[in-house]
Amino acid sequence: MAALLEARELVKQYPKVRAVDGVSFEVPAGICFGLLGPNGAGKSTTVEMLEGVVAASGGEVRFRGESIAARGSRYRERIGIQFQATALQDFLTVRENLRFFQALYPTKRRIEELIAVCRLEEFLDRDTQKLSGGQRQRVLLAIALVNDPEVIFLDEPTTGLDPQARRNFWELVRSIKAEGKTLVLTTHYMEEAYELCDDIGIMDRGRMIARGSPQRLLAEHFDDSVLELPVVDAMRVGDRLPFVIRGEMAELSTRDIAGALQVLQKAEAPLSRLRIRPRTLEDLFLELTGKDLRA
Ligand code: ADP
Ligand code: MG
Repeated sequence: MAALLEARELVKQYPKVRAVDGVSFEVPAGICFGLLGPNGAGKSTTVEMLEGVVAASGGEVRFRGESIAARGSRYRERIGIQFQATALQDFLTVRENLRFFQALYPTKRRIEELIAVCRLEEFLDRDTQKLSGGQRQRVLLAIALVNDPEVIFLDEPTTGLDPQARRNFWELVRSIKAEGKTLVLTTHYMEEAYELCDDIGIMDRGRMIARGSPQRLLAEHFDDSVLELPVVDAMRVGDRLPFVIRGEMAELSTRDIAGALQVLQKAEAPLSRLRIRPRTLEDLFLELTGKDLRA
């Protein structure tokens, strides 16, 4: 079956920067596709080309097998974009904002439904200037849904939100996905990509450096676990274990946790702050690029 959305060899060349350098991928209908990467990787530029908001310098985007350039407004009417906060009309309430944006589209989703899906009940009649960060993101998501789109684009929707607001937002994304919508999301939080996305592309310097489901990517690259200990405690074992220092923690990647524990015990290293964890997308990014996702 043809993918709902397809990026073919997308390139965006700015005068001084090649923001996107030949990126291809397919997004089947009904999944949440995630672009993961550090600041400046080219995620937003890629998404803006997918949306048709930024013109590609090379390559093309296809929707249902047809170039979006040829589809024009027939494409724009089928997608929803979560804009940055500045898109909200100030001095209007949440409800008035929904009406304002809905008036721009021929196809409309009922406002009462949007309110229920995005859980806007408590602050419907509040001026949008007086919303918390998490509330604002929920309103922006509702605006992305006013035309009942098939594909919804979310560019770093939870950046700057506190952990609870982030989890609440994840719940909304899950309920929208459960309606059968297709989502394209960018994030630099590996946990967010892991929680929400069925398929991810890891980007760095305008290129796609890995593709697959989070679980498959981790299984393909790693067959070990990570043992973490504060550096001061790990120092007891000297060079008998190949610890890698990351900040205040010493990390050991190993397939033989039991053996490593024996060495630690023999050296009488304190184990009260010992942690053993599976590999994460953060480790994968570090392995692929030699740098931290969050740096
Ligand atoms: P990300 O969303 O992953 O942080 P972006 O797509 O925003 O990355 O940016 C990728 C690169 O392109 C960066 O080096 C950025 O500075 C550059 N860039 C983005 N937009 C523009 C623009 N309008 N003009 C010039 N350079 C840009
Ligand atoms: Mg960005």
